[in-house]
Amino acid sequence: MASTMKNPINLSIGQPDFDVPDPIKKASIEAIEQGKNAYSMTQGIAPLRERIQADIDRRFQHPDRQVYISSGTSGGLVLSMLAMVNPGDEVIVFDPYFVMYVPLIQLVGGVPILIDTYPDFRIDLEKVRSAITSKTKLVLFNSPGNPTGVTANLDEIEGLARLCQEKGIALISDEIYSGFHFDGAMRSPAEFNPDTIVIDGFSKSHAMTGWRLGYVHGPKEIIQTMIKLQQYSFVCAPTPLQWGAMAALDYDMTQHYSDYAKKRDRIVAGLRGYYEFTEPGGAFYIFPKVPSGTGTDFVQRAIENELLIIPGKIFSARDTHFRVSFAASDATLDRGIEVLRKLAT
Ligand code: PMP
Repeated sequence: MASTMKNPINLSIGQPDFDVPDPIKKASIEAIEQGKNAYSMTQGIAPLRERIQADIDRRFQHPDRQVYISSGTSGGLVLSMLAMVNPGDEVIVFDPYFVMYVPLIQLVGGVPILIDTYPDFRIDLEKVRSAITSKTKLVLFNSPGNPTGVTANLDEIEGLARLCQEKGIALISDEIYSGFHFDGAMRSPAEFNPDTIVIDGFSKSHAMTGWRLGYVHGPKEIIQTMIKLQQYSFVCAPTPLQWGAMAALDYDMTQHYSDYAKKRDRIVAGLRGYYEFTEPGGAFYIFPKVPSGTGTDFVQRAIENELLIIPGKIFSARDTHFRVSFAASDATLDRGIEVLRKLAT
């Protein structure tokens, strides 16, 4: 649709609007030129794994926590489902959710159990407790969240971590937006439950969505199973780009993240009073409620005004909201805010 428009205002994109920093590009180009073009070990090149492992050990001090390099965060999600979910197992997902979660659960024969988090997208631990049955295998948690940008507070994070531990249920924490956490330090349920499987990656943090580089850390037995499955599926993450990721770990991205905090402030100020929404604490999304009708109809009207946004039903059993990505230039954001203000009345 965008390609048929003269001057679209594209606020639909799930990737930062800055480019991969030059030193990271150069490190990958050098790796290619030096002939580091073959398969790597399935679990990833040793120097990258060792760097990330050292950071993880410092942060969590779990004797049994191991990391491997996945083919994107998506690759980590796929393999975690294959490793843990058997046909008929129930997997708890908070609605709205990242698009891939429900189809991935279904792909391995699992049963998605949706917990509605509207209107404020907070986690109600009592709802989680009552959704747990003898078939519950896994809880999928994502903060900062896509599509809402909402960040869970410490009570929610700790409560969920401890509840999963008490019930003997696996907990996956999708932390791909960990860099974009604007108000205070990012906390992980792994701090409270050493069995938590954490999925993270470079796609969002360094604008490297096309490089397909992620990593997963958790209990050794689960990670070893995922590595075994990676051997028979993705084989390895792209080798020269793993060398580039070494440079990514040395590169200071904080200026980019604080720019994004300002973009969050800009869109929040622009839409306040016009729409109902929960203020995002991270990622680069805001998920307002449509003033009337369905999300789908609203998005159609936005498109007629050259504004590209995404209807909530893509991420949800409901069709009452829409996702705006603020990963765009300030000028584009201002144009988008203008159209959205017009559509609010
Ligand atoms: N999890 C979430 C919550 C996401 O938003 C995305 C990307 N849109 C992914 C995982 C997948 O990221 P990757 O590019 O690393 O596969």
